[in-house]
Amino acid sequence: MLNARHLFSQLRVRSSFEKTAKAQNSGNPEAKYPDNRPVVPNKWSLERDRIFVLEYPPVRSRDQARLPSDGGQLWNLSVEWKSRSVVALFCRLEEFLMKSKAWTVVLFLVAGSPLFTHFCCAQSKPAADLIITNAKVWTVDKSKPNAQAVAVLGDRIVAVGSNAEIDAWRGLHSQVIDARGKLLLPGFNDSHVHFVSGGIQLDSVDLKNASSPQEFARLIGERAKLTPKNEWIVGGNWDETKWNPPNIPVKELIDSLTPSTPVFVTRYDGHMGLANTVALRLAGITAKTLDPRGGSIVRDAQGNPTGALKDAATDFVYKVIPPLTYEQRVKVIKRAMAHAASVGVTSVQHMGPDYEDIAVYAELLQRGELTVRIYAAPLIPQIDDQAKIGVRHAFGGPYLRIGALKAFADGSLGSGTAYFYEPFLQQGENRGLLSDEMQPVSLMRDRMIKADAAGLQLCTHAIGDNAISIILDLYSDLVKAHGETDRRLRIEHAQHMAGKDFDRFAQLHVIASVQPYHAIDDGRFAEAHIGRDRASRTYAFRTFLNHGVRLALGTDWEVAPLDPMQTVYAAVTRATLDGKNPGGWFPEQKLTVPETVEAYTMGSAYAEFQEKEKGSITPGKLADMVLLSDDILSIAPEKIRDTSVLRTILGGRLVFDSAAAATKSALVR
Ligand SMILES: [Zn+2]
Repeated sequence: MLNARHLFSQLRVRSSFEKTAKAQNSGNPEAKYPDNRPVVPNKWSLERDRIFVLEYPPVRSRDQARLPSDGGQLWNLSVEWKSRSVVALFCRLEEFLMKSKAWTVVLFLVAGSPLFTHFCCAQSKPAADLIITNAKVWTVDKSKPNAQAVAVLGDRIVAVGSNAEIDAWRGLHSQVIDARGKLLLPGFNDSHVHFVSGGIQLDSVDLKNASSPQEFARLIGERAKLTPKNEWIVGGNWDETKWNPPNIPVKELIDSLTPSTPVFVTRYDGHMGLANTVALRLAGITAKTLDPRGGSIVRDAQGNPTGALKDAATDFVYKVIPPLTYEQRVKVIKRAMAHAASVGVTSVQHMGPDYEDIAVYAELLQRGELTVRIYAAPLIPQIDDQAKIGVRHAFGGPYLRIGALKAFADGSLGSGTAYFYEPFLQQGENRGLLSDEMQPVSLMRDRMIKADAAGLQLCTHAIGDNAISIILDLYSDLVKAHGETDRRLRIEHAQHMAGKDFDRFAQLHVIASVQPYHAIDDGRFAEAHIGRDRASRTYAFRTFLNHGVRLALGTDWEVAPLDPMQTVYAAVTRATLDGKNPGGWFPEQKLTVPETVEAYTMGSAYAEFQEKEKGSITPGKLADMVLLSDDILSIAPEKIRDTSVLRTILGGRLVFDSAAAATKSALVR
């Protein structure tokens, strides 16, 4: 019953190991891996109130430096363990109770309750590292939705309850956060981001709010003056629908302002970009260049490229833009992580990362510098790499996982490249484009079959109703080929559904990974592109839930803001950004705040096979939480988007504190 392993398991959860003089003198403060996990020894001996470490597990050489050099570090047992004999007595009692018949137990408990309680509290409960008290806790755990306080040990939640219950976890060294009645939620998990593009965007020219082609050109001209020679101007997120008339921009708008600076600024949906003459020249695009499969070069009446490139045609330019250097990538990712922490996002699912991005994540993980948890889904043409190594879905640790693949079925609504059964309105016969990965569809099927056989998870971008149908066909082929299993197949965006497909979605257990902010953005023009009937099955979140389809929420950052409050606002109000639908665009598809928060936490965790590790404020789960300035469960829905984050906690660590951030920015000023 009582053995060193039992005792050590208690100790292991204490992050505040008291160090002996010997350990301090040796200059090795603590035995921890670079990602802050305590190193659990292979062998130890228990002597009175101390653990003597006899042997550490084999470690990689780069971790070696962090371990105590003598391998004999002593850790004092905590004060809670008064002496071995008391512990032994308690354990013998526990053993006796387990063996006794029920009535004996009851009798014993009644008779011995003060003694028993004393032992329980004194012996089995180490002090919390962090206590959040006086909060309005919305746990997203159906077994206990509401609470006042939370206790955290190491990186895990150990207790959720009333202020009084949690106070029992308070120790001398517990950090205490008084939430002053504010709302505490599980950290948000964004199921679809382009994290590095998002980080780049934070520093690049911002064209999203340019209200005319002239302003668009002026902003690019200003940026060109600040841009070193030969460096590209990228990013942008322009949106021509805000212009009158809403014409796609042409290179002549910016050529005279950027005579020697290559420019490739993308439309906010990422499916179109505008290149200036310098960039077209570098990319080798002329009137003679043929449209690639799954893309098009926009041309004027004479057949000359206008500079606008759609979908696969953008690759001509992307190929000649120099990749980020390692240092640039580290900087961009750190910028993105700081932004994520400031808006309460504790997990992101990075769709289509470069391998270089994953290398930087791995480096930051080893340095203990990741402040967001990452699930990375490289592009499906790279299937062989993950299949060869033999990783399966959600392979990795709490901070970094791989094992998924991002695939593309079609383009986007705004660019006229989403693939529909019927043509777009006022665009001739245009029904959109299947992506180059789907030319032919059997190419995609072969890759998916291979991925499924390897146990990799599929996350497929499909927006038009026909594209979604084809992907559901392919997904059902997987079931036919390899039988029923827990695949958690996903369709990213799942924007414009054919009525017949909701049931199929549910039957195949496909997760709808959706971005409500797109609804209030595209809602401005969707009906003009596809008509009322198809629009009624667009961003049909309520219909998905009614059919028993699981939702995972995200933003598609950099396409939409990463801030979850904008997404919650969008899902709950469906009030389009142009202010024309204050009561909601297709209001029957609105979600409630609790439904939205659940899909954004548990839903997204499920979509990455992590619902047992995170997604709710539940004892045993990772301590990822966010404290908000306002109670979004009770304030007027239109105020949700003005809500800010007070604190973000990741694995028990405070990674964002609004008060500290305010002081810092005041100092900078
Ligand atoms: Zn995306």
